[in-house]
Amino acid sequence: MKLADVSTWVFDLDNTLYPMATIYDAIGDRMTAYIARAAGVDEDEALILRERYFHAYGATVCGLMAHHNIDAHDFLRDVHDVDYSVLSPDPDLAALIARLPGRKFIFTNGGGGHAERALSRLGFNGLFERIFDIEAADLAPKPQPEAYQRLIASCGFDPRGAVFVEDTLKNLEPAHAMGFFTVVVGPVHPEPHPPYVDAHAPNLTTFLDGWIARGQLGQIGETR
Ligand SMILES: [Mg+2]
Repeated sequence: MKLADVSTWVFDLDNTLYPMATIYDAIGDRMTAYIARAAGVDEDEALILRERYFHAYGATVCGLMAHHNIDAHDFLRDVHDVDYSVLSPDPDLAALIARLPGRKFIFTNGGGGHAERALSRLGFNGLFERIFDIEAADLAPKPQPEAYQRLIASCGFDPRGAVFVEDTLKNLEPAHAMGFFTVVVGPVHPEPHPPYVDAHAPNLTTFLDGWIARGQLGQIGETR
């Protein structure tokens, strides 16, 4: 796929646009504490529930809605009430994204203002046309097909001219089926790559650097 053929870019947020490790524990601790209160369990049990729901539903909040009748918006606001100053600005990546032609969207299972605060701290303000988070998706998380359908309908683009970049492999499968060109970024991925992965790179900066330099995919793990 040539760079000039891309009309839309869709980026996951956590561990795609920035390494989440620095802020993950703070958010996770608030999730555990919230679950303990809402479900009436101790923190050990709450941690088990948190991980179970994350893996089963793609987003912890969806398991909490299904099993504990929690207010999703209150949960999302509460757990993201953390210190975002631990995130570092990334001017190199910001410059690369700014050079990409086409429309650009954020597509994240986060909510509660998480994306807005993270992007602001990373120095990515103004780079994206819209943040489409789990609240914008009416609480349908990736990889549920409804999440992608709502993104496409709400933002109004043709996935056949769109690139989707993610660190979570399973989130690429429905996107590929809908016609997106799929890119997985991150350090560890299975070989050979599943058929729904079109390209891969160790991180987004490396990927965009290479693609912009060449004007098309070719050397960084292209499979389509
Ligand atoms: Mg991610």
